[in-house]
Amino acid sequence: MTTANARGNRPMEWINTTNRASDIYGSHTFSGDVMLKRLPPDIHSALEKTMSRATVLDPAIANTVAQAMRDWAIEHGATHYCHWFQPLTGSTAEKHDAFLTPSSDGTAIEKFSGSQLIQGEPDASSFPSGGIRDTYEARGYTAWDATSPAFLLENTNGDVTLCIPTAFVSWTGEALDKKTPLLRSIQAVSKQAMRILRFFGSDRNVTQVITTLGCEQEYFLVDRELYLERLDLALCGRTVIGAAPPKGHELSDHYFGSIPDRVMAYMTEVEERLFRLGIPVKTRHNEVAPGQYEIAPTFENANVAVDHQMLTMYVLRTTAPKHGFVCLLHEKPFAGVNGSGKHNNWSISTDTGVNLLDPRDETHTNMQFLVFLCAVMAAVDTRAELLRASIASAANDHRLGANEAPPAIMSIYLGSMLEDILDQLESGTPKKTMKGGSLDLGAHTLPQIPRHTSDRNRTSPFAFTGNKFEFRAVGSSAAVAWPNTVLNTIIAESLDKIATELERKAGKSPTPAKIETAVKAVLKSLVKEHRRVCFDGDGYSEGWHKEAEKRGLPNLRSTPDALAVLRTKSAAAMFERYGVLSPRELQARAEIMVEQYVTTVAIEARTLATMLRTQILPAAMRAQSELGETVSATQAAGVECPDTELALTEFVGLASALRQATASLEKAMEPLSHRGHGGNGDPEKQAKHVREKLVPAMEAARAASDALEAVVPDDIWPLPTYAEMLLVR
Ligand code: ADP
Ligand code: MG
Repeated sequence: MTTANARGNRPMEWINTTNRASDIYGSHTFSGDVMLKRLPPDIHSALEKTMSRATVLDPAIANTVAQAMRDWAIEHGATHYCHWFQPLTGSTAEKHDAFLTPSSDGTAIEKFSGSQLIQGEPDASSFPSGGIRDTYEARGYTAWDATSPAFLLENTNGDVTLCIPTAFVSWTGEALDKKTPLLRSIQAVSKQAMRILRFFGSDRNVTQVITTLGCEQEYFLVDRELYLERLDLALCGRTVIGAAPPKGHELSDHYFGSIPDRVMAYMTEVEERLFRLGIPVKTRHNEVAPGQYEIAPTFENANVAVDHQMLTMYVLRTTAPKHGFVCLLHEKPFAGVNGSGKHNNWSISTDTGVNLLDPRDETHTNMQFLVFLCAVMAAVDTRAELLRASIASAANDHRLGANEAPPAIMSIYLGSMLEDILDQLESGTPKKTMKGGSLDLGAHTLPQIPRHTSDRNRTSPFAFTGNKFEFRAVGSSAAVAWPNTVLNTIIAESLDKIATELERKAGKSPTPAKIETAVKAVLKSLVKEHRRVCFDGDGYSEGWHKEAEKRGLPNLRSTPDALAVLRTKSAAAMFERYGVLSPRELQARAEIMVEQYVTTVAIEARTLATMLRTQILPAAMRAQSELGETVSATQAAGVECPDTELALTEFVGLASALRQATASLEKAMEPLSHRGHGGNGDPEKQAKHVREKLVPAMEAARAASDALEAVVPDDIWPLPTYAEMLLVR
């Protein structure tokens, strides 16, 4: 890739070192070798300590770090720096400042001080605050998160900006972003997990426990030219109408299929840009649906992984136009076609690198692992509604609760080896670990391969996959900071309860025997109480819905249902207790999410009505008059034409059904007609109206339009079809 700098045609030799991924890896980040080369040794080791151990940052080093960052950035073509943060909109925000500072003598110097690195002051009034701030109360601060490396963001024109990852808070100190609570939740897990390690005496050399995260990202690519012809894709990121194509994924010929050359060129450029940003992308493949793909990194500590996930979405979106594509990150761009998720692979690990969810070979003897495992099981069971709320959005409603992967019922898949150990725990002391054995493939030229002890289960929303949990219900467009904040907090709560119980049972001077008795008793009661949340069968089946209801597991099918839990005292108390969110901060998030739901669907409804009125109904009229003319001409020629007359009658019926459905849709839109953040009135009531009236009206109008699409002549139909967008490359 040769990228000329758009502003000065300065050749950027560092961008031309294309050959090896390892050469370019991290070249756009202020970390590793770059940091080592550019900082005095004492400053380097202080910053390195903050980054790797999350120790308190010494502000005295900020000036030196700022200078080094500035020189490095300017040498690589940057003219501006920005504090990069994650407001509650769900995207990222950046306000650019030039390094250039004019002097009174008419010259200018390039300045960037320690205080500019540490703190910024963006106007907080234009970001959603959920009532924490009024519009006139505008002061907000950004604060440097030194634990996530600063990076150079280069756009496709070659403009380079130095980005400093920051937290974003209001003048009152309340979090207005997604990073602050995430960092607090990581701390909460660490504190409680350390108690468990101390109890088992395995905390030697461990200073903290971290959560690890790797997100598999699914996305669609569509031709940019076709995209531009569809208002719904451009405004909503998904199609609000469109009949099913003649061929879907019935033949399973897309999943893991060979990647088309043009797509490969796109992926290669995406990967190269991500490598430069120090994002360890590892896997790429075709997904289930035609036009659907996936990219996955190697996992990292959760805070950095979350920043990297936001950047991955940015790079996926911005690289696509150069290759004639648009990248759709929406959960359900095409009805009837597989939706997109973001598998949130999550684990907990010591800072010495021990994965606490690794069962090891003789799992039944690994009591510490079983404690962590049961802590997760208890958390997901006790706080299933919160976990469901953490992934609720208008877009994700098309997957969850719509009989698609995965269902809205939160359950855990453990696999047969662990289920067997839970059986043993329930009835006393676990004595053995089931082994997978090996597979003999029957042809002596093929190797014998070791077999896992469990199969995979694609239908589970929360699956144990070897040495981590995979939270699969997260939506493809989601900012993952929030689901991970919730996950960490409920785990912290669960570990807290378990640690307290273990400490109580083992007494003040625990002997190994007392510890063992305490652990067995605690595990047994956890399994008894919470095992109902474990389910290994088909999560899509009707049978599971019935069974889950019998077990008392919640099934919150829509966003308004799911978000209600954020208003409960119990949720507020939990977030406050672990120092993750104050009741006001939680309340603010609940309000914003309801508003976002209402606003999103309202925009989709307006888009749909516009398309029906200005494109589909006029096209139907044109088709109708063509048919009408055929009938009159045939009759005028004195020929009987009952078939053609019938076709006309049927067509008029379909067109009139669409006209009526459009009118009903417009009526359902009326209560939301005030624009802005969800219109006027009570957002909760509006959300209820949206779910109960507007969404069904949109579905009815869509059905009427799709029925017409099947009979309107191709040269009259005004929109690119599903087949053209998904199958014709
Ligand atoms: P699949 O789930 O499709 O089998 P992988 O096993 O490669 O795929 O894992 C998917 C993701 O899980 C990758 O991003 C990987 O880095 C991540 N992952 C693996 N181990 C952990 C861990 N201990 N903590 C968090 N994520 C992990
Ligand atoms: Mg996976």
